[in-house]
Amino acid sequence: MVISQLIERARKYLPPAKVAVVEDAYEYASRAHDGQMRKSGDPYIEHPLQTALILAELELDASALAGALLHDVTENCGVPISELEARFGSEVAKLVDATTKLGQISLQAAGLQPAGETIRRGSGSEQAENLRKMLVAMAEDLRVVFIKLADRLHNMRTLWALDEAKQQVIAGETLEIYAPLAHRLGIWELKWQLEDLCFRYLEPERYHETAGLLAAKREHRESFIGEVTADLNHEFQRVDLVAEVSGRAKHLYSIYNKMKAKRKSFSQVMDIFAFRVLVDSVDDCYRALGMVHSLYKPVPGEFKDYIAIPKANGYQSLHTVFILQLLL
Ligand code: MN
Repeated sequence: MVISQLIERARKYLPPAKVAVVEDAYEYASRAHDGQMRKSGDPYIEHPLQTALILAELELDASALAGALLHDVTENCGVPISELEARFGSEVAKLVDATTKLGQISLQAAGLQPAGETIRRGSGSEQAENLRKMLVAMAEDLRVVFIKLADRLHNMRTLWALDEAKQQVIAGETLEIYAPLAHRLGIWELKWQLEDLCFRYLEPERYHETAGLLAAKREHRESFIGEVTADLNHEFQRVDLVAEVSGRAKHLYSIYNKMKAKRKSFSQVMDIFAFRVLVDSVDDCYRALGMVHSLYKPVPGEFKDYIAIPKANGYQSLHTVFILQLLL
């Protein structure tokens, strides 16, 4: 990719003065990484650029984008943090410093060595200490975690370029640490991409099997989601219920997990699609549920009331499962 793609995306939500900071960070990073290559055969700068683009799609601020562009210059190019501070200010310098440190900590926290050759389990107290450091780094500035997650997502996307032993170590670590972290922070967009990429490397046969089954229905998927969303919207409008409806196909790893957990075959896994209805009040939640159940036949035993009984983390909503005959 080229810098103009990132700039174009950043312009959609950042003022010109902030976009200039991003451009400046790019100039600096591309000079620092000049001559370096990725295992994939790309010039190194491709990696920080893609990392920054992932964050621009989530509309993170200019400092986070600059931090993403510069996240490997200390470790890979030997640029001292003080130089980044002098040029980009302490905010960006701190982001780069913390991101670099977080990378070193998380590898140890998983009990894994970065090289992938020797796998070493850290002792219990060592791991606890590393996890503590990781939590402190996160608590100081959550943008550090966003940069680290985007960095990892791009590394997962280019994992094909590494040898199999490293692929297994990195995918394992990603599934153990980074995907759950994205889940806890509610960054679903990164979470499902990380999980599906891990799935592909950790269980390639199962992955291709699931992907093949889902691909067979792909062409119908989008129109199906559109139809149900339209039906729901129409019904809510009819009764003056203000609601925001969105739908998506579930990702491969979650479908596979469901098949495994419930010992079901693909054709028996019913919730391949998920719809979300956002309303303004608790009353409207139950009203919306009633509408859904009158439109579509609910599956007995699948309804969950997390409003009356919230999840341990405070999460509250209503879940239901319904069956719709697909007219193919
Ligand atoms: Mn990196």
